[in-house]
Amino acid sequence: MTNSDCWVPIPENSDFSIHNIPFGIFSNTNSTKRVGIAIGNHVLDIAAVAKTGIFDSLAFDQSVFTNAFLNPFIELGKTITTAVRNTIQKELTNANSILKGNDSLVVLQENITMHLPVFIRDYTDFYSSIEHATNVGTMFRDPANALLPNWRHLPVGYHGRSSSITVSGHNVHRPMGQTMPPNAEQPVYGPSKRVDFELEMGFIIGRQTSLGETLTTEKAEEYIFGKVLLNDWSARDVQKWEYVPLGPFLAKSFASHISPWVVTMEALEPFQVDGPKQETKVLPYLEYKGQKNYDINLEVAIQPENTAETVVCNSNFKYMYWNMAQQLTHHTMNGCNINVGDMMASGTISGKSEDSYGSMLELAWAGSKPLKMNDGSERKFIEDNDTVIMRGYGEKDGVRVGFGEVKAKILPAK
Ligand code: CA
Repeated sequence: MTNSDCWVPIPENSDFSIHNIPFGIFSNTNSTKRVGIAIGNHVLDIAAVAKTGIFDSLAFDQSVFTNAFLNPFIELGKTITTAVRNTIQKELTNANSILKGNDSLVVLQENITMHLPVFIRDYTDFYSSIEHATNVGTMFRDPANALLPNWRHLPVGYHGRSSSITVSGHNVHRPMGQTMPPNAEQPVYGPSKRVDFELEMGFIIGRQTSLGETLTTEKAEEYIFGKVLLNDWSARDVQKWEYVPLGPFLAKSFASHISPWVVTMEALEPFQVDGPKQETKVLPYLEYKGQKNYDINLEVAIQPENTAETVVCNSNFKYMYWNMAQQLTHHTMNGCNINVGDMMASGTISGKSEDSYGSMLELAWAGSKPLKMNDGSERKFIEDNDTVIMRGYGEKDGVRVGFGEVKAKILPAK
């Protein structure tokens, strides 16, 4: 199966190849929110496709396709969701498909509005890139003790806010906050002066556990439906003052953006790779077998108002020290239950080289090494009216599977 077998045209290097088939929620002037899949520059309206009867033999409640979120569809379980994905792939490569020639089923992406794909019930953010944790520890503490004693023994994480997670394209105002300026005697209240992005990926839970149930690294990925790109905005000056002793709070909760298409774990299988060697032996419940890291190229660009973008970071999801199976196993080891629609995030994804750091804090080294933009200006952090764009894709043996982008502008403080 190749892109040329598909009767919807797929441009070269499209993220939305015949091998991808990611799920999202869209609407247009004619229709309310519904499930779609991205193919090339188009979207296949799955709610309308269902009316042709191609899913009837799968025997499930097809009203899930007109829900405003993917949750009821995901809740059907992988047996159904994978069968739906396979059916669509088969029809798109069938020259005699019942769907072909029916113009109302295929719409151009530029003519639709994408919405938050999943009702995110709970949001957990990990801190699983050893390069990122080392960089931050070096800046905030000292290079000799950059990693705290627990870091190599467990995937550190915290519970974030899900209410302020929005989809790509919704701009956000610079947050207000309380900070303690250097050498000041009193804290001040005002707009954050150090707004930053965090390059992350999130995974969406596809199967619930009950209270008291624990998962193993062998089974954990069966509980993951798919992945999205995530910009986990951070206000560094607010963070620095507020985080002691309980950790991230208002510096993180003002906004997070995700990409609109959820790429399934099945679509990402070709990109499985070995993870970095975990030199410190982990406890038995965190041991794992097989390839649990994913080779997904990631980039971040900053676009100042009315000028061309500058790519400031090239990283890769394969750099993660702790993999998703370990994160999820650790998350459930105390019996805390997970639900369909929960999102777990990687934490900032940094690599070893200076151009692979996943935040401005690291790229501009706490403001000491400003980055040059293509328009001649410099950035230490994100300025008003800057747009931050993140993109990601896997590519192997002619198969490309991508996430599109997550994009948002920082508007001036209200
Ligand atoms: Ca984060």
